[in-house]
Amino acid sequence: MRHLLALLLTTSAAMAEVPRVVTDIPAVHSIVDMVMGSLGSPELLLAPGADEHDFQLKPSQMESVASADLVVWVGPELTPWLDAALEARGGESSILTLFDDVGTYKINYFVGDSVTGDTPAEGTIDPHVWLDPSTAAYWTDLIAAELSRLDPEHAKLYDAHAVIARSRIATAEAEAKALLDPIKDRPFVTFHDAYGYYITYFGLTSAGTIALGDAATPGALRLSKLRATLEEGSVTCVFPEAQHNAGLIDQLVDGTSVKIGAALDPVGSTLQPGPRAYPELIVAIATTLAGCLSDPG
Ligand SMILES: [Zn+2]
Repeated sequence: MRHLLALLLTTSAAMAEVPRVVTDIPAVHSIVDMVMGSLGSPELLLAPGADEHDFQLKPSQMESVASADLVVWVGPELTPWLDAALEARGGESSILTLFDDVGTYKINYFVGDSVTGDTPAEGTIDPHVWLDPSTAAYWTDLIAAELSRLDPEHAKLYDAHAVIARSRIATAEAEAKALLDPIKDRPFVTFHDAYGYYITYFGLTSAGTIALGDAATPGALRLSKLRATLEEGSVTCVFPEAQHNAGLIDQLVDGTSVKIGAALDPVGSTLQPGPRAYPELIVAIATTLAGCLSDPG
């Protein structure tokens, strides 16, 4: 009898097994966490404060990637370090590449950067796709469907969590919109070319970026053109990034009327990881932008 009971317990536990999920960046981690809800939490690979484009996995994280039931990530365009780990893995994890989904809205990196006149990334699709809240809302269904395929027993729950996630995203979006509407027409410069989706979605006025989309340190020519633009006085604020040294920005704006805003964090790596991080990220960017752009001084 005891054996039978043990067997029954084991069987029901195995049937109710929630997939072990690994995610790339805090924003994606948060969306998956919302969809898993009470059933569990995914693992997050990118360390707090780390640059999404340039990161090194620990051996234990390589193991996680290899042994996961499901890896949810944006794609190799954003995180080449995870691409390498997926290539090298011996395991059989399912992979959900969000960037490759036909329903993921995509635009190019800023073509004809108005600050420098450069068109270095022309024709290159910007992989910072999560910064469009309507894309994140769309992904909740995509993630719920994949989790349900792996764990059919909990399909109804995943769907229900996705509905809640979408309402949280919609609330954050409305909050961001209210903050951003009054400062829509004020030109600003960001550290790297990561905000195209956010800028497009909320109808903001970007005057360009310091670094390109991969956040690599810009060259001297780009910097001197930027400096000339800032001296003209049309740009209101320049925003550093939590992941990058602000020293470059101090030098650039020194002696001009341009204000330096608080640091932006496009991946959410300064936020507490979890279900609240994505909605917080959408509002935090708006708060930071409005904090500098709405200040008349
Ligand atoms: Zn980036």
